[in-house]
Amino acid sequence: MPKKNPRKVLCDCGKRFGDSQSRSQHIRDSPLHKQPVVAMAYTAAALGPVGEVEENQELTTSSAKGIESVGGLYTVKAMAGKGKGLVAITKIPKGTRILSEAPIFRVPRDNSNINSLERIVANEVERLNVDQQRSFFDLTNIYGNAHSRSLGIARTNVLPLGSNTSSGGLFLEASLINHSCRHNSQNTWNENISRLTVHALQDIKEGEEITITYLPTTPVYTERQRFLQEKFKFDCKCELCLLPRTERERSDTRLREIQAIDKAVGSYFWGGLEPEMALNLLHTMFLLFGEEGIWDGLIPRAYNDAYEIATENGDKLRARVFAQRTYDARRLIEGDDSPTTIKMKRAAEELSVETPQRLSGTEFENWLWMLKGALTS
Ligand SMILES: [Zn+2]
Ligand SMILES: [Zn+2]
Repeated sequence: MPKKNPRKVLCDCGKRFGDSQSRSQHIRDSPLHKQPVVAMAYTAAALGPVGEVEENQELTTSSAKGIESVGGLYTVKAMAGKGKGLVAITKIPKGTRILSEAPIFRVPRDNSNINSLERIVANEVERLNVDQQRSFFDLTNIYGNAHSRSLGIARTNVLPLGSNTSSGGLFLEASLINHSCRHNSQNTWNENISRLTVHALQDIKEGEEITITYLPTTPVYTERQRFLQEKFKFDCKCELCLLPRTERERSDTRLREIQAIDKAVGSYFWGGLEPEMALNLLHTMFLLFGEEGIWDGLIPRAYNDAYEIATENGDKLRARVFAQRTYDARRLIEGDDSPTTIKMKRAAEELSVETPQRLSGTEFENWLWMLKGALTS
């Protein structure tokens, strides 16, 4: 009798078995396979509105456990052409924490050993309760038959837990948030509370879809389309991508200019630019943000650059203002409890020096950004 190939039978859920009998046994026993896929999708959709809880109150249904929101802000809806999405059921003011969610499991982001990753994901999925498994298998899988379904779903939906970490998390609720290149919300991994938060970047109207960006930066139209098609297998039809051609070209010009300034300001830190020129450029960048309608993480980043330029220059007056603005912007996007917000708050407090009170409005901005013709201090 020929020796059996060990672990050769792959189940749809990602687990491997020595033979098909063991797999059949597993399919009968595992809660993963209790319901056909169609029924799963129906049940998950029938769960109805989520997020309708008081602040900090723990939800009672197990599928929603670990998710909190600031009370009745959104509902999960089927969106034309893009699966499910989150839609505001009330006006959501800028800065609101829309969602705060713990990962149902963590996985390494290193994809070099796909077999090991497949096993890790399969084990994690097996450990979930029935409701969580239902929600998990209802998530999008852009990998088709390239992987087991579990791994495909995990690879499609896992979000990084911070920018410098090697692990990612699977979030049942946040995974339902669709992309827009002109997103109205931003997701951040908050290490202090071990949760992913989503904050409103601007006032969101009732009935408006809540969107985040899947892009690491916002490049020009053709680059965005290429990236999203390559990584996420969809053609973006957001308001920015659907702009009439002439407007889109104007937007592309601004985006290119923002990138060029970002690069030039970066060279300041290598000694390639005078502080005055660097601040002038950052000021131009903020004008471009305004014209382009950018409210996201680029804002605190640019203020933080200005803060570092002023600090390095021994300019405590400006450093104080920029630290405060970085803090204000971070707070809106990440909340008071995020490590970066707390860090900037301290930086601003340590620099509590007098600001030039005699200046106001335009005069103050001219002084701050060291624009020509401004009063010297
Ligand atoms: Zn299975
Ligand atoms: Zn787009």
